[in-house]
Amino acid sequence: MRLDLDRLLLVVGDVKKSVDLLASSFQFDELREQVESVDDEASDLLDSEKYSSATQGRQFEMEYHFQQVLKLLGEDIEREGLRETPARIAKAWLEMTRGLHEDPSHYLLKQFTSNSDNMVIVRDIPFSSICEHHFVPFVGTCHIGYIPGPIDPESLEGPYRITGLSKFPRLVNGYAARPQVQEELTDQIASAIDSVLNPQGVMVVMEAAHMCMSLRGVKAHSAGTITSSVRGLFATNVDGVKNEFLQLLKISDR
Ligand SMILES: [Zn+2]
Repeated sequence: MRLDLDRLLLVVGDVKKSVDLLASSFQFDELREQVESVDDEASDLLDSEKYSSATQGRQFEMEYHFQQVLKLLGEDIEREGLRETPARIAKAWLEMTRGLHEDPSHYLLKQFTSNSDNMVIVRDIPFSSICEHHFVPFVGTCHIGYIPGPIDPESLEGPYRITGLSKFPRLVNGYAARPQVQEELTDQIASAIDSVLNPQGVMVVMEAAHMCMSLRGVKAHSAGTITSSVRGLFATNVDGVKNEFLQLLKISDR
């Protein structure tokens, strides 16, 4: 299985090289996006295969502990509906925290050049994460805006550095798959884009509903939490870029 995946990655790499060559001469953006996504899927497959062999032992141990927790809750762990439950919980928790074992900023290493430094917005990226205080999910959407930075850091002229649009949902969900608070998650995404893509500015807005607020405690079912993080031109709001970003999010809401 492992060998096949390695070979698959090699083949995808070759195809990508030829398409990159074509794309750079003809700007086949759509084709490039498609090949990018096949590439991502292939490396995800390899990651998940490496990951599963490394986590098997931890999964068995977690099953045992989840069994103990169910007993402490007063459950009969021998009843039919619960027999497989500890294993299912262990699997689910390992999946929901898989981001602890990867550096999601690597998705941004694939970069292209563009002659435009107009604002790029990717909105409504769905995500789910785990609140580190209560270990229950928070679920919502993320909006990212950035202004591409020059390839040559000494110059303010183009060409500019961009990345594939599909990288942003991967970045967001990579960081989201870790136990944390929404404030930090928003910051991590902005910092990754700022340091790896070197844009002139980046702004990240996240809206989420927290199960720790709706299922327990204050039971505030309709409460939503909005966090934002800004870097570069968005922090200083040069030329009103921050307002422009928020305005564009609002316009496309209608
Ligand atoms: Zn919480």
